Amino acid sequence: MPKEGHISLEDLHVDFGYSATPSSLFLYTKEENRFRERVRGFIREKIAPLAEEAENGGSIEPIREAIRRMGRDGINRAYYPKEVGGEGYGVVHRTIRGEELTAISYAVAMVAGTSVDLFGMPVARHGTPEQKKKYLPPIMRGDKIGAICITEPGAGSDAVGGMRMAARREGKDYVLSGEKRFITNGSIADYMVLYALTDPKAPHGKGISAFIVETEDLTGFKVLKDFELMGRRGVVNSWLAFEDCHIPAANLLGGENRGIEVMLDGLDGERIGGTSGYVGCSRSAYEIALKYAAERMQFGKPLRSFEGVSFKLAEMYSRLEAMRLLMLRAARMVDAGLPASKEAAAAKFFAADNGWWIVDEALQILGGIGYTKEYPLERYMRDFRVGRIAAGSSEILRFLVQRELYKEIGYK
Ligand SMILES: Cc1cc2nc3c(=O)[nH]c(=O)nc-3n(C[C@H](O)[C@H](O)[C@H](O)COP(=O)(O)OP(=O)(O)OC[C@H]3O[C@@H](n4cnc5c(N)ncnc54)[C@H](O)[C@@H]3O)c2cc1C
Repeated sequence: MPKEGHISLEDLHVDFGYSATPSSLFLYTKEENRFRERVRGFIREKIAPLAEEAENGGSIEPIREAIRRMGRDGINRAYYPKEVGGEGYGVVHRTIRGEELTAISYAVAMVAGTSVDLFGMPVARHGTPEQKKKYLPPIMRGDKIGAICITEPGAGSDAVGGMRMAARREGKDYVLSGEKRFITNGSIADYMVLYALTDPKAPHGKGISAFIVETEDLTGFKVLKDFELMGRRGVVNSWLAFEDCHIPAANLLGGENRGIEVMLDGLDGERIGGTSGYVGCSRSAYEIALKYAAERMQFGKPLRSFEGVSFKLAEMYSRLEAMRLLMLRAARMVDAGLPASKEAAAAKFFAADNGWWIVDEALQILGGIGYTKEYPLERYMRDFRVGRIAAGSSEILRFLVQRELYKEIGYK
């Protein structure tokens, strides 16, 4: 029961949406706005209750069910190429889905994004017909879960240069040995795309190959640890060991010593997809703060009547839209087949850093109640934080952007 002076989350129910606003009609096509409405309605009705269950219980099971539901609804396959059973949408649609999903649940977005996008897309783009036929349908349906294994205990930001995981050829098999760390979905994954050195003496990145690994009955495969994470409750993130694991040579993905091409191809799309999560999560935080500032009375007035608060809201809105614009520009460039590494990297670090600021300031506007679990602001902070670290930290992305800038004016 709401007490006087207490505003419950239900009182603050904000569902602004995005597709009916003048800027969305300007920035997105009618078809893209329709796609947003479809995905948004489905996520709010069918996924939100499962996301709450995962947050409260900390279990992966509701998340798995969410991915199966998205599979049945066709959301998982939306931007797979038509020839593998998808709808052939591009990166713009990927950002729309990412934004709407993270606006509700970062945990579901992360598990689904890792399985459907990060595992599935390299297979869709580089797999043999047999690999596509075998691995993609169960991933798109959400019946099986995928993972991507790049990072190692000694190879984080320098994942390519520091890689030690080895794959040696033995007859009809490759034999994997080494460790992978921080692997999302690691201990629950049915399939993985894993990168390993097939030629350790080759120059930087040239001796890496990609493999599809099936974890079921894989002798020598060990889960060393499932990490307890700061946020995104329910997500499984693991430290894995591979001790002389035999996998069929037919599971090589994209050719021997061609792994770097598999890794880099699609990276811009992944970074832009990741950026949509920052837009979605910080948008939810901003919407709650906007409404709260109108309802909460102090000094006999609503908070929004104080410039210290209302100017913050104006700034939050402007940063959010700047994040969206950088993201959308990069997405449209990739969809048009243009090189967009600089734009994708800039969009990601700008959105990671500014989205974090928005979530933090939103909590500030709620004051003490923002720090409690009455509102999801404290969850957004926990869920958001890793965005500045994973899939290219904000520091590394700044490095990449300046490198491209200098290349453009003729410096090495
Ligand atoms: C929740 C979570 C999920 C993840 N999921 C996956 C996954 O599914 N698959 C996978 O392969 N990996 C995954 N990762 C790994 C992630 O991509 C790495 O954490 C990230 O690349 C950074 O590596 P690191 O943690 O080893 O940090 P380090 O590389 O040790 O860096 C530590 C700090 O130093 C900074 N730094 C490093 N080098 C430089 C430099 N040259 N200049 C300036 N600053 C620098 C970094 O920005 C960072 O702030 C995940 C990580 C987390 C936390």
